Amino acid sequence: MIKIANVSKHYGDFKVLTDCSTSVSKGEVIVVCGPSGSGKSTLIKCVNGLEPFQSGEITVNGISVGDPKTNLSKLRAQVGMVFQNFELFPHMSITQNLAIAQVKVLGRKQDEAMDKGLKLLDRVGLKAQADKFPGQLSGGQQQRVAIARALAMDPICMLFDEPTSALDPEMVNEVLDVMTELAQEGMTMMCVTHEMGFARRVANRVIFMDHGRIVEDDAKEAFFANPRSERAQQFLAKIL
Ligand code: ADP
Ligand code: MG
Repeated sequence: MIKIANVSKHYGDFKVLTDCSTSVSKGEVIVVCGPSGSGKSTLIKCVNGLEPFQSGEITVNGISVGDPKTNLSKLRAQVGMVFQNFELFPHMSITQNLAIAQVKVLGRKQDEAMDKGLKLLDRVGLKAQADKFPGQLSGGQQQRVAIARALAMDPICMLFDEPTSALDPEMVNEVLDVMTELAQEGMTMMCVTHEMGFARRVANRVIFMDHGRIVEDDAKEAFFANPRSERAQQFLAKIL
């Protein structure tokens, strides 16, 4: 579903990604972790074309992200992305937030988009909040809306960038529960997160990044039992 081959990216002399390669099969859940500044956000943003890269190749479902002929807005419509800070439209109601891209990007009718949005809102346990505005919801609720909004586009895979990092601790699980359900339903997911409990329960593989490189890419059992690099061992020792 996602293939990342020898991707490198630099800002001037600064190498933010160096020769990164991995792939994610259909239905697989990959957790990406590593220290702050190691390139995790940059890597997943490259996957849906939010960040350009200078060398290597990324394909999503066979479509080359770096190819100038690729229609990036069409690709992004198929790749759901959830950010740390929710990124909901503050001046729109929850239902409007859920409907807008369905109408503008996919050309769905307003009614159909509203219907689909409400169904997904129900699925994340927030049907009662439909007419509220983002600012009236808790962080955990806003993040669940953001996930529902991404799902409304019928994505072929989902990218998460530290979806629980901005949340108060008591709200983390309500978001992880939604992500766990999604994974169990077979969604292909690439999740940047430091929630190692989630990684242990849900991930198939864990990628560890350091200084722009993928230093470990292992089955989760192997990663947790015996990380190969010293850097990953130190990292795990600190956060577990
Ligand atoms: P992570 O998500 O692992 O914390 P990022 O992918 O956000 O890391 O960033 C990786 C590195 O790239 C960081 O050192 C960051 O400062 C640098 N970086 C990110 N965006 C830019 C930019 N636009 N210009 C220069 N450096 C950047
Ligand atoms: Mg980041």
